[in-house]
Amino acid sequence: MLRVALITGGMGGLGEAICIKMAALGYKVVTTHSPGNAKAEEWLKNMNNMGYGFKAYPCDVTDFDSAKACVETVTREVGPIDVLVNNAGITRDMTFKKMTKADWDAVIRTNLDSVFNMTKQVMDGMVERKWGRVVNVSSVNGQKGAFGQTNYSAAKAGMHGFTKALALEVAKQGVTVNTISPGYIGTKMVTAIPQDILDSKILPQIPVGRLGKPEEIAGLVAYLASDEAAFVTGANISINGGQHMF
Ligand code: NDP
Repeated sequence: MLRVALITGGMGGLGEAICIKMAALGYKVVTTHSPGNAKAEEWLKNMNNMGYGFKAYPCDVTDFDSAKACVETVTREVGPIDVLVNNAGITRDMTFKKMTKADWDAVIRTNLDSVFNMTKQVMDGMVERKWGRVVNVSSVNGQKGAFGQTNYSAAKAGMHGFTKALALEVAKQGVTVNTISPGYIGTKMVTAIPQDILDSKILPQIPVGRLGKPEEIAGLVAYLASDEAAFVTGANISINGGQHMF
């Protein structure tokens, strides 16, 4: 039976590459999108015109009941979820002095509460079936902190605390839980930065000398989702071109 992979935020820059990679490996690929995403239908149509056969469902990952309803529908219509990639995320960057409670809450809810909301829906099934993979997409800025990102750095660091604790709880049941921490990847979010800033401030921080490619992130996710990665759990894997080593 084909395995089912659910990727949250699969219509975004990294998410799309992850969906494509997982489809190429033969998974049944399901993505979520925000309930208000007006471009979701068009994205799905375009991708499926290219032959991918994705399914897409609305889900507000910040909302436990929305996550529950989404996973119930996916399980009924596609099958039980074998691989969950918690990829949906947002930034609301500003210095701590200017940050409002709303900016803090939005980032914590979307990047961290979402991990609980989604994982909670799939974990019992993975444990019962004695196989499962959860991959949490964090960030280099959750590892080292970043100016103007107290909310984002806290949420992304929190994801890895969750990963380590849950990995311990389900390790004997054939379920792995891992974090990946990408550095600067050439998605719209990053390529929107003016070229002179990229050249003068960002690229010099990256020993490899270029931005990462979404396909490189997708390759790591695919490895962690595979049978070969059964002995990797509770890990936080840096994928940042050497920008941050520890
Ligand atoms: P995008 O903004 O392109 O994609 C983010 C996705 O998250 C969107 O598809 C969006 O869906 C979804 N999303 C946001 N809020 C919600 C919500 N409330 N409910 C459901 N879905 C939601 O970002 P990237 O692809 O660049 O980033 C993906 C992940 O990788 C994020 O977690 C990000 O923090 C992390 N990351 C990215 C890096 C980069 O360089 N790009 C570096 C390090 C980490 P919709 O469009 O439907 O609203």
